[in-house]
Amino acid sequence: MSLLVVGSVALDSVRTPFGEVEEVLGGSATYFSTVASYFCQVQVVAVVGDDFPHEHLEFLRSRDIHLEGLSAVRGKTFRWRGEYGYDLNEAHTLETRLNVFETFEPVLPESYRKATYVFLANIDPELQSRVLDQVISPTMVACDTMNFWIAGKYDALRATLKRVDLLVINEAEARELAREPNIIRACRIVLTWGPKIVIVKRGEYGAIMVTVESIFSIPGYPLETIADPTGAGDCFAGGLMGYLANVNDWSEPALRQGIIFGSAMASFNVERFSLEGLRKLTYEQILERYEAFRRLVHFESVPSLG
Ligand code: AMP
Repeated sequence: MSLLVVGSVALDSVRTPFGEVEEVLGGSATYFSTVASYFCQVQVVAVVGDDFPHEHLEFLRSRDIHLEGLSAVRGKTFRWRGEYGYDLNEAHTLETRLNVFETFEPVLPESYRKATYVFLANIDPELQSRVLDQVISPTMVACDTMNFWIAGKYDALRATLKRVDLLVINEAEARELAREPNIIRACRIVLTWGPKIVIVKRGEYGAIMVTVESIFSIPGYPLETIADPTGAGDCFAGGLMGYLANVNDWSEPALRQGIIFGSAMASFNVERFSLEGLRKLTYEQILERYEAFRRLVHFESVPSLG
């Protein structure tokens, strides 16, 4: 099945306690599509400026990612500058320069309009909606967002959410969006707004999925080396959606498997800066981490306490 993503393609500058990088490849659509490309065909809708390094486009092409919907326009590429302290779960945004995104009008190439799985990555919710307007009849639509848009474009975000099946969101942002400190209650509130499924990403503590009927929760993969958490959320979504599109199924069992793939892919990403942890993975490595996850959470039932 085809998977379409709209999001940012960026040049990121990031500082963590373990190092610092300037103007490296980043962006929500970049992380998402790179990860999803291990599972299915991915079509990207985004914009870059005329300063975007050619080698980054070559890399995305080398992953067989479709770039027909990636516009290259005059101006500067989107830039994000962020910093993490020893609590790597919390990114501190130092600077967001929308640049070419400020005037971006997404037009889907004809070949994208029949996309079956759609991911609206973290981007202006008005752009998310305008992309959705152009997809003919998607099987499943998922979306992410962040505090920047919750604070700045709340109504537009609520309008996008009405059209979404699955919301994937950070813990702090779920609280902020629903204006409710308890996570389960926050999810239940969002479930009345449109999405049928809410998945909350909890950084190193894992993820939790809430639907009207069920709750599923997993821990984070127990890594001993974390260099840079940037993009972990997009990698999570890329593994999840890539797998769902691969099996063309978004039933609860498939979602649970997808959450494990998403977590496995995010764990590879955070071991290195930028996309370095994702460039040369093998399917054996990915499946090995999936199995390690299974062993991590496995426990026996107890027939009786006699
Ligand atoms: P994550 O760590 O998964 O939340 O995503 C980090 C990525 O999101 C970075 O590579 C940034 O380039 C990108 N990003 C940060 N802020 C924004 C924003 N306001 N709109 C779109 N993308 C953003």
